[in-house]
Amino acid sequence: MDCLFCKFANGELETSKVFESSSVLGFKDINPSAKEHYLFIHKNHSENILSMSDGEVSEVFLGIKEFLEKSPMKDNGFRIVNNTGKEGGQTIFHTHFHLLGGEQLKGFGH
Ligand code: 5GP
Ligand code: ZN
Repeated sequence: MDCLFCKFANGELETSKVFESSSVLGFKDINPSAKEHYLFIHKNHSENILSMSDGEVSEVFLGIKEFLEKSPMKDNGFRIVNNTGKEGGQTIFHTHFHLLGGEQLKGFGH
């Protein structure tokens, strides 16, 4: 399957990694929407969160939590975003969670 994020996960293509475990990869977004903008994925391909197993969802969130333990965002705050499908604005069809922070975030939900 020709999937960009699978290629990051299996090492076929290089990306700027910030976190890696046996099942999860975190890397910098190429077009950041905040001072810190990372994408976290499970290494197993899935199109969106609805087709991930409960275990895979947990592993990605546990990876994000482990990353945050060593980040100033732990104390300063952060935002996690998942865009799903056409109306959600998803452009890459390997499930990913945006982790944003590093500055005051505005304009969402208030
Ligand atoms: P979506 O719109 O699907 O929620 O998010 C896709 C994200 O992937 C976008 O924020 C976009 O900037 C990022 N992206 C697209 N192509 C690449 C790439 O080649 N490398 C990295 N690191 N991020 C990418
Ligand atoms: Zn994939």
